[in-house]
Amino acid sequence: MDPRTKHTYRRQLYEFVKDILVECPKCGKRAMVDTNGYTFFQTMAENVRVTCSHCAYHKTLNRVSIRSKHFIIGAAFDPFFRLPLWLKTEMYGEVLWAYNHEHLDILEQHVAAKLRERNGFKYRIKGIGARLPRWMTAAKNREEVLKAIERLKVK
Ligand SMILES: [Zn+2]
Repeated sequence: MDPRTKHTYRRQLYEFVKDILVECPKCGKRAMVDTNGYTFFQTMAENVRVTCSHCAYHKTLNRVSIRSKHFIIGAAFDPFFRLPLWLKTEMYGEVLWAYNHEHLDILEQHVAAKLRERNGFKYRIKGIGARLPRWMTAAKNREEVLKAIERLKVK
């Protein structure tokens, strides 16, 4: 992956780094990380907060440096508290994950577009879809991947 493409991909992922759904560390139910308007252009995130409406668990990070090696984007946990993402499922020995429903919808659109492309429709794949892992868009997996996404949507 050339650095520019990689940069673009990271930036696209950053667009979904908001209202991240995670597993509550206390009760295991769905909790939410509110990134307080953080954007790709900031090197510091402030007052990032995780809240669980089920058990009232909450925690706030006053200042998080995005340059810190602890800030990891592109894995199946949130980049701030490193809590496991709520929207994730294992398949083919890999993990399908999304930060939130908006992110999940985009993944679905791209995998579905690939499916339509296979069926003879021309469809322009751009943005994040061009960088999805191969197992996710491999022709033989697409229908299963779409089913898994459907299950996550109603989780
Ligand atoms: Zn909880």
